[in-house]
Amino acid sequence: MADQPGWGEGAPHASEDALIARLAELVPTSTDGLLLGIGDDAALIAPDLVWTVDTQVEGVHFDRTTSTPADVGWKALAVNLSDLAAMGAVPLAALVSVIVGEGDDAELEAIYTGLGACAARYDCAIAGGDIARGPGLALSISVLGRSSHPPGRGHARPGDVLAVTGTLGESAAGLAVLHDASLRDLPGADECVERHRRPHPRLDEGVLLAPHAHAMMDSSDGLATDLPRLARRSDVALVVDLDALPLHEDVRLIAETLRRTPGAFAATGGEDYELVVALPAAAVATCGVPLTVIGRVEAGPPGVRFTGAGADETLRGWDHLN
Ligand SMILES: [Mg+2]
Repeated sequence: MADQPGWGEGAPHASEDALIARLAELVPTSTDGLLLGIGDDAALIAPDLVWTVDTQVEGVHFDRTTSTPADVGWKALAVNLSDLAAMGAVPLAALVSVIVGEGDDAELEAIYTGLGACAARYDCAIAGGDIARGPGLALSISVLGRSSHPPGRGHARPGDVLAVTGTLGESAAGLAVLHDASLRDLPGADECVERHRRPHPRLDEGVLLAPHAHAMMDSSDGLATDLPRLARRSDVALVVDLDALPLHEDVRLIAETLRRTPGAFAATGGEDYELVVALPAAAVATCGVPLTVIGRVEAGPPGVRFTGAGADETLRGWDHLN
C-alpha cells in the first residue's frame, strides 16, 4: 500500500464523469449477474431488476431558504424515481440513508412527510434505512424497480430521432425566481418554483416508451451535460435543435428577462426530470406518449452538436463536482 497517496495529496476533482471513470477502474464492475452497470441511469442486476441511488446535500442540491423540509423529502425520492423512469421501470421499494446536522426531530419528520407523499404518489414502499450524524443534512436514497424493457443509453442508432417528454427549463426558471426577487411577479413564476421544488418523475411515460426506445435517459443535469453521456454510451453523434426544445412561454419570458437565449437556458438549466429518448421516427406517433422531436441521431464520433438560437454560446449543464 506504500504507493497509495494519503488525504489531500492529489489534484482537485476534474469532472463528475472523469472521476467516475477513474473510480470504476478501482472496483469490480461486472459479474455474471450484472447486466448493465456504471454508465446508465440505473444498474440492471437481473433481467428485470433495476437499481439506482442518488444523494441530495444541503447547500449543494437544496437550501433551507428556498425549500421546505417536506420539499426536500419529496425531491430526494423523486429524483431517484426519475432514474427508474429512464429504465422503463416501476418502483418496488426504497432504502433511505439520512445524515442529520444541526436540525431537530420536527424538521426530520417534515422531511419524511414530503418523502412519504412522493412514495405514496408513485407507489414506492420505504423498506428501511439508516440515520447518522454529520456536518450537515443529506439524504441518500436507493430505489429498486422492475422493468420488462429496460432500454439503457447504449443502443441509439443513426436514423433515430431524439425526442423529449413534457417541457424543459421550468426548474431552472424556478431556481432563478427563488434567487432573484425581481422575477417573482412574472407570469408562471410560482409554477416554475413548484416544479423546481417538487419534480414529478415520468414513470408512466417511461413504461410506455421503453418498448420503443433504442436509448433513454432522464434529463437531470441539463441536455448539454446529459446528452454527451448518451452519445458516448451509444457511440453516435447527436444533432439537437435548440429552437425545437419544448418551452413554456413563461420560461421564454423568464429566460429573456435574464438576458439568456431561451433554448440555451433550457439546455443548460438542469433538474427537468423529463425523459429523453432515441427511437425510430415512426414510433413517435404510435408510442402513446406526447413527445417533442428535438433532434436526430447520426453516425460519427460521439458527441452533441447544437443548432438554432444560442448554439454559438458555451453550453454547459450541471456538473456535480464543479
Ligand atoms: Mg439519470
